[in-house]
Parts: sequence; C-alpha cells; structure tokens
Amino acid sequence: MPLMKKCKNIALVAHDNKKKDLLEWAVYNKGSLLKHKLCATGTTGALLKDALGCEVLRYNSGPFGGDQQIGAAIAEGKIDILIFFWDPLNQLPHDPDVKALLRLAAVWNIPVACNRATADFLISSPLFDSEYENVLPDYKPYLERFNK
Ligand code: PGA
Repeated sequence: MPLMKKCKNIALVAHDNKKKDLLEWAVYNKGSLLKHKLCATGTTGALLKDALGCEVLRYNSGPFGGDQQIGAAIAEGKIDILIFFWDPLNQLPHDPDVKALLRLAAVWNIPVACNRATADFLISSPLFDSEYENVLPDYKPYLERFNK
C-alpha cells in the first residue's frame, strides 16, 4: 500500500485554453502549493514557475510527450496528485496521450482534478497536507493470471 507523505509530488497540466484558469488557481493557492513539490508539462511548468516563483520540474511539452512522461512517473509511484485542466471543447493532436494519462491516474488511484471546482475541493481537503495510505485495487489475480 503506497503511503503518500505530507509533502506530495503534484503534477500540473493545462491545455492552452485552460492555462489562464490554472495559473489563477495556482496563484490563489500559492501558499498551499508551495508546501509540496511541483512538476508539470513544459509550457504549463514555465508559466507556473514565473507565476509562483518556485521550482517546477518540467517535462516535455504535452504534445511532445509530456503527458506520457507524467503518466510514466505515476506508474513509477513518483506522483501523488494530478491537477489536469484539459480542454473539453477542442480536439488536440495528443488526445490519445490525454486519455492514457487519465487512465494511469485511475489505475494507480491517485487524486485527479480535471477542473477548477474539483481542484478547489482537493486542495482544501485536510488530506492535502497529511499522510495518506493509498489503497490500491487488488491487481494480483490479474498479474498472476498466467502463473498457474
Ligand atoms: P504544455 O502541455 O504544458 O506543454 O502546453 C500541456 C498539454 O497540452 O498536455
């Protein structure tokens, strides 16, 4: 059972039409966010670094593999929370990557906020700043299905 520490690794991603929203949200919640370690896709990360004046680990830009890199980091247990303001009104060249990222977040049972309201609820949860035991589904039968 993975244990999330008090200081969490938070990944932030915003599609172009949602970047303003994410930046406003991040600046408003700067005090809470700065207690944690932040990472982001390339452009989102650069904007966050400027707006918050803090270190942000930057992956590639989303369409160049950044979403996939964040998905891989989730699978490796390196990310605790995903704030992902995706654009529901436009098709993007990397739509499959968006789906893959959301799928991995579901597989690994990490909290995901796909819009500002959910992000507000998430960041105001007492669990945001405390330890949390992430109870994963039982994947053993699936993983061992050919071991008989
Ligand atoms: P970006 O990528 O932060 O580099 O713009 C976000 C995305 O499109 O997934």
